[in-house]
Amino acid sequence: MLNMYERASKALLLSNADTLPIDMSKLKIEGLCWKALTRKDAKHRGIIENEEFVSYADKHTGFVLDLLNGKYLIIVDECLPMTERNYIIAHEIGHIICCHTSLHGVLGKSNDYKTEHFQEREADICALLLLAPPCVLDDYGISEYEDIMKFTGVSEDHAKQIVGELQRYRRTKKTATEKALCKKFRAKKKRKGKGAHLPDANDCESD
Ligand SMILES: [Zn+2]
Repeated sequence: MLNMYERASKALLLSNADTLPIDMSKLKIEGLCWKALTRKDAKHRGIIENEEFVSYADKHTGFVLDLLNGKYLIIVDECLPMTERNYIIAHEIGHIICCHTSLHGVLGKSNDYKTEHFQEREADICALLLLAPPCVLDDYGISEYEDIMKFTGVSEDHAKQIVGELQRYRRTKKTATEKALCKKFRAKKKRKGKGAHLPDANDCESD
């Protein structure tokens, strides 16, 4: 079974993302069918109707519904600042790509506290890996949290957590998926040419 690091890299490799920052609301991943709606929109369209569900939605900044047959609907609070909204969508995509279980249709939730805690933690880490893929950051020589914030658009708190993920990444062997992902981002940067705002890759032609 793939671990979440490999799942996140694979999802990005199979997606339309090839430059930083990554707008999660525009992310399309081959083979995955999901849509993100604001809470307001979901209410307007009658998706969030019954009282219990309205109250659940109002208490949560975001969640993802398993619509079955491989389809998912992400609901996110429209009042959140863009940075936070992008993180929430990434977290919900994390639940999807990690194939988490659901409770009453909400992915990641469980009657078992330990399962839910594990799934939420995994989705949190997955969100960071999607927003700021460590292999790409390493390839571009980005390692300080200030630069991570600047190039990926994540919050200071998340950027500091990504520094930890980058350190973990550097201790492990690069997978074929990670190499391919770096190549994809590098190719885009080359096409963008001199005007690209990202720093030069560390090892441009080495692999
Ligand atoms: Zn969650």
